[in-house]
Amino acid sequence: MKLQAVKGMNDLLPPATALWQHVEATARALFGRYGFQEVRTPMVEATELFVRSVGEVTDIVGKEMYTFTDKGDRSITLRPEGTAPAARAYIEHNVGNLEPLTRWFYLGPMFRYERMKTGRYRQFHQLGAEAYGTLDPAQDVELIALVAAFFRVLGVPDVTLHLNTLGDGSTRPAYLAALKAHFEPLVAQMSDDAKLAFERNTMRLLDSKEAALQEAIAAAPAIVDFLDEGSKAHFDDVRRLLAKLELPYVLDRRLVRGLDYYTRTTFEFVYAPAGDNALGTAGTVCGGGRYDRLVHDLGGPEKPAVGFAMGLDRLVLLLEKLRAPKREGPLLFIGTFDGPERDDALALVMRLRDAGHFVDFDPRGGKLGKQKERASKVGARFFAGYGGDEHASRTLKVDDLSAPKDAPRSEHVSLEALAGWLSKEAQTA
Ligand code: AMP
Repeated sequence: MKLQAVKGMNDLLPPATALWQHVEATARALFGRYGFQEVRTPMVEATELFVRSVGEVTDIVGKEMYTFTDKGDRSITLRPEGTAPAARAYIEHNVGNLEPLTRWFYLGPMFRYERMKTGRYRQFHQLGAEAYGTLDPAQDVELIALVAAFFRVLGVPDVTLHLNTLGDGSTRPAYLAALKAHFEPLVAQMSDDAKLAFERNTMRLLDSKEAALQEAIAAAPAIVDFLDEGSKAHFDDVRRLLAKLELPYVLDRRLVRGLDYYTRTTFEFVYAPAGDNALGTAGTVCGGGRYDRLVHDLGGPEKPAVGFAMGLDRLVLLLEKLRAPKREGPLLFIGTFDGPERDDALALVMRLRDAGHFVDFDPRGGKLGKQKERASKVGARFFAGYGGDEHASRTLKVDDLSAPKDAPRSEHVSLEALAGWLSKEAQTA
């Protein structure tokens, strides 16, 4: 049997990993400036956690979870999303009692047994943020502003913010009754999945891709027409603040999101350029919203919360389209000779690395000309051979590999001065 990565799970190789690191480093720096601290939860959780939070009649729990029985006969699940594990940790460690307001972010792999296509994988990576402890619409908008800033800093164009509200407990009964009445005549034509959704979670039908339902979905009553006073005021505040921050959005009455725990504000960021769409149908790069009941429903205190999750695989795909990832080459490449001075050359490489410089050599050795070719290939800026003469004179002839072939440039630098000389060159890169 030929050994291969599990279907839907990708190896990330250089140079793409450099782009991942750039995205992650940008996130850590930016999220830090917004007051969000990192939380890391285990990759597996009790299955029950997702059933109770994401919801039984959802695609994730119904079809997509990697669920196993462990050796202790417990049902455990590879996490399909990050909000429920974060809420579990928040409750378990009593964080709500220790501080009134908590802002967390997380970053890592998630697992869903999904049908694969561009931008849809079985192991994928999410960057998410959660804010616990306030109902204030400013918290919703801060999170939306954070996502918008992240795309801006990374230079991702053409992402549109879609906004909706799902109301809360007092909105739902009247809305669900209207929705049920609307879809009732179509039950006979529905698939088993859609029938189950109709019976147990009617709002899910708005997400359905079934051809027979599309017309009815387009004509379905919208939740914004059923909002209770509190949810309406909240939504108005969110919209006012977005306008104040000059964050454009489109109202999307169909945006219900695929998870049960949302209340009030929901939003998505969708990549939708005019013309070619690099992500095909997987254009949603970020989704989020409020989940004011979740912490309490999972056995914790009354703590309203709001958050989002962003698909990093899709984001990296976009960035790769915008600019090809480039390998960062060494500042100096040292060519070695067979002979007693090779050990000194290697010691020099290590010493310069300890001084903070990216310096490399080729452990295979070989002809100096060949080593210089390899130095050019890996994008080194300078090249210097280190052999008997250099060792005796304590001086290297450093070639500038960026100089044109017909006008070579080199400089003699003493071994003592080399680290300082490299520091100066690094600054003028
Ligand atoms: P969700 O947790 O379903 O709201 O997803 C949030 C974001 O994660 C989506 O907008 C996608 O960008 C990303 N995402 C979700 N599922 C996948 C998947 N199977 N493969 C890649 N990215 C995904």
